[in-house]
Amino acid sequence: MTASMAFMNEELDRMKREGLYGNIRALDGPQGAWIKIDGGKYLNLCSNNYLGLANDPRVCERAKAAIDSLGVGPGAVRTIAGTMSIHLELERKLAEFKGAEAAIVLQSGYCANVAVIPSLTGEDDVIFSDSLNHASIIDACRLSRAKTVRYEHSDMASLAERLEEYGDAPGRRLIITDGVFSMDGDVARLPEIVEIAERFGAITAVDDAHGEGVLGRGGRGIVDHFGLHGRVDVEIGTMSKAFGAVGGIVAGSAVLIDFLRQKARPNLFSSALTVPDAAACLAAVEIMSESDDPVRKLWHNGDYIKAALRGRGFNAGNSETPITPVIIGEASDAKAFSARLFEAGVFATAIVFPTVPRGTARIRVMVSAAHSEEDLDKGVEAFTCIGREMGVIGG
Ligand SMILES: *Cc1c(COP(=O)(O)O)cnc(C)c1O
Repeated sequence: MTASMAFMNEELDRMKREGLYGNIRALDGPQGAWIKIDGGKYLNLCSNNYLGLANDPRVCERAKAAIDSLGVGPGAVRTIAGTMSIHLELERKLAEFKGAEAAIVLQSGYCANVAVIPSLTGEDDVIFSDSLNHASIIDACRLSRAKTVRYEHSDMASLAERLEEYGDAPGRRLIITDGVFSMDGDVARLPEIVEIAERFGAITAVDDAHGEGVLGRGGRGIVDHFGLHGRVDVEIGTMSKAFGAVGGIVAGSAVLIDFLRQKARPNLFSSALTVPDAAACLAAVEIMSESDDPVRKLWHNGDYIKAALRGRGFNAGNSETPITPVIIGEASDAKAFSARLFEAGVFATAIVFPTVPRGTARIRVMVSAAHSEEDLDKGVEAFTCIGREMGVIGG
């Protein structure tokens, strides 16, 4: 490494001193309720595999069969030779599932935001963004070169005020929000956002990464949850969480999707979703369309662990979804808590600044439909023992 790169050591040392350096662990087996790490078996309380589909035999079989008939790689970007009929089939199924006119798939949820936001807005436009929006939204806003105005988290008066302030400014307005806020589990006030958008003539976009497979009938997402079909302009999402594979989704009007196919830079300049990913996502959407049992099980498990942790005295925040934050406070304490959990056979990572504000470091507990009540009881026991020892809870 040349001297010009020495700044990296300084920054890494600083992160370690401040307890912000992440210890990234590797899984030796499949994603599931229990996972293998370094030869040990751990209760998995931190994956986004909400419905347990990441290792579902039906999903795996579909991916294998697709590789046998279609190969692995798409070989090109969608706009050159990378569009395969399996992509179009997946897009049709997703549009139908979400009750939208059309859909386009991207390589990830991150790419979906980068596809949408800079395509709809530019230098002359204004974006109104919730202060707790996901980093991929923030990055996409920067790429758009539009003026980005943050409004207070889920504060509708703040949103309306900001729109008012830009009342006469030229250009388009875009309101963008997470559907489910990933670190707290609260749900965006989408019906009010839509009303405000309609009043000010703004475009509405919601990133439903943590709502897909979780909210709405059979996991159809936040628009379905609130019955707002046709009133939200853009539904952004991911197939990397509840769908159990990887990929991004944008759903909306046929014109929006046609526009994005021609304009969205991840569609033009990054190769298409791979064959096994597209096939796995197809299997996932079919499973979700058939039955809402996995979604019910997920909610049951989320309610179960929240009640148990609160019962033991933990601060489980104000989540309205299965996401269960256990607020610890200082980053170093949350890291120590997570390390102790790991020693006790529970894998639940600490989430610290800059992912959450300073002083609100937490263990974010993520349950899935694959957990049994017995699994969750084991997790709660470990939390309770460590919580008492560390003085996070009384007793
Ligand atoms: C996870 C997440 C993403 C990123 O999705 P990937 O498919 O992992 O790239 C984007 N937006 C939100 C709100 C998320 O929670």
